Amino acid sequence: MLTARKLLIASGNAKKLKEMQDLLAGLPFEAVSLKAFPDVNEVPEDGKTFEENAAAKALGYARATGLLTLAEDSGLCCDALDHAPGIYSARFAGPGKNDHENNLKVLRLLEKIPDNCRGAYFKSAVALAEPGKLLGVVSGEVHGYIGREIRGTNGFGYDVLFYYPPFKKTFGEVPAEMKYKVSHRFKALEKAKELLRREYGR
Ligand code: IMP
Repeated sequence: MLTARKLLIASGNAKKLKEMQDLLAGLPFEAVSLKAFPDVNEVPEDGKTFEENAAAKALGYARATGLLTLAEDSGLCCDALDHAPGIYSARFAGPGKNDHENNLKVLRLLEKIPDNCRGAYFKSAVALAEPGKLLGVVSGEVHGYIGREIRGTNGFGYDVLFYYPPFKKTFGEVPAEMKYKVSHRFKALEKAKELLRREYGR
């Protein structure tokens, strides 16, 4: 009997990992997480773009584990903040701060910004690598606005601030399945799936 090839989904962020596992369900690969590799050191995110960080993580974890690896780097980019927090999204309010503190910092920085200048987008870059070989880097975006208050309790990160016009709600106010279908991560992962199909014929 053929055993499915393993695919390491290399994310240390439990909520992002869950989203990616849900979005990649049904692929003819056996998904494994970094939990199976407690001794592998974290790959630093020291690139200048989402793409550079995703590629470094995919190559680093593929080398460390010997597995085909998918890595993702993502964040929120605000028009009025010159694309900040961008690649610093996870640690925007400083080391050791949490999602809520990051959200409060964004709200504070945008306090005097008028409604018509509060555009923002989430971007996700997804990289695939085998040990020693980068297979490709793809990306996806979803565009909306930053509201004036925290709304909703679903999702994670900046979801409770991100107002998505087609829903007339923030991502924090809709069920996970609604966000999944339009999200930056969904769009990037659809392209990554296509890349896997091209590389492995499945
Ligand atoms: P990473 O784990 O370094 O890629 O950091 C991603 C950070 O970007 C998260 O910790 C969130 O703050 C933010 N982020 C990325 N994707 C999303 C999303 O789908 N919703 C809300 N925040 C997100």
